[in-house]
Amino acid sequence: MLTAVEASTDAGARVARDPVSIVRAVEEPLEAELVAVLASSLAFGNVATILSKVADARARLGAPIVVACAHPADVRRRLAGFKHRLYRGEDVAALLIGAARVQRRAGALGAAFAEHLRVASLQEALARWVDDLRGAGGLDRLRGPGARHLLPDPRVGGSSKRLLLLLRWMVRPRGETDVGHWSHLVPTSRLLIPLDTHLFKLSKNLGLTSRASPSWRAAEEVTAALAALDPGDPVRFDFPLCHLGMAQGCPSRRDDERCEGCKVRPLCVHWQPARSK
Ligand code: SF4
Repeated sequence: MLTAVEASTDAGARVARDPVSIVRAVEEPLEAELVAVLASSLAFGNVATILSKVADARARLGAPIVVACAHPADVRRRLAGFKHRLYRGEDVAALLIGAARVQRRAGALGAAFAEHLRVASLQEALARWVDDLRGAGGLDRLRGPGARHLLPDPRVGGSSKRLLLLLRWMVRPRGETDVGHWSHLVPTSRLLIPLDTHLFKLSKNLGLTSRASPSWRAAEEVTAALAALDPGDPVRFDFPLCHLGMAQGCPSRRDDERCEGCKVRPLCVHWQPARSK
């Protein structure tokens, strides 16, 4: 049934209203990975606002990120005054300066991540990669909630949704949704589902996880359930499920009106026949 949901999703039309559209528009791979870091890190809140804030940050830089970051003081000056939710311009400047430095050192951000993944679990590899970026740009020395939240530590056990979203974009091959610049570096079978609140609730409704909150462990459970359908690429179901949840306005309870036409209703726990006692 999830395969049918995927097949019926108009991915082409929906991508235009998704932050991945920003990354898809960048052809040069090194610039694309920096834009992906920026867009995924700011992917917090309303989609229209995210798209405009990423555009605002790039416009302030006045040049491709890869070029602008050769002059860190200039990046900090240009992003001063930028704000999105709890993120300030200095947080975003430290993020981009760090990412560009790691990129120059390793040749590509994807190569730096793949090197960690060669010897560590996904969670630890991602954490080491985050440490690299935070240390290189000084994000780890900034005070305030934005600096901590912008690039979180996966070791803490949260869902790390925005980091896993970045991996999905970069690792899954270029198709209707993702961009695949890191396809040759990381197998899709190593990815975990980026579990935001909406997808977590939908996953609970489908019985894909029994966890109480959208944690790293919950992402592992949901991914394992999806791997039963496609062990080589379980995260392929992220985009269709995410957009199904948004389009349906899933109420996470039995609701005749809002559940009308929901493609996963036969699997939904709220619509299972009551067991006889
Ligand atoms: S049937 Fe209703 S509650 Fe269940 S997943 Fe669909 S929209 Fe959500």
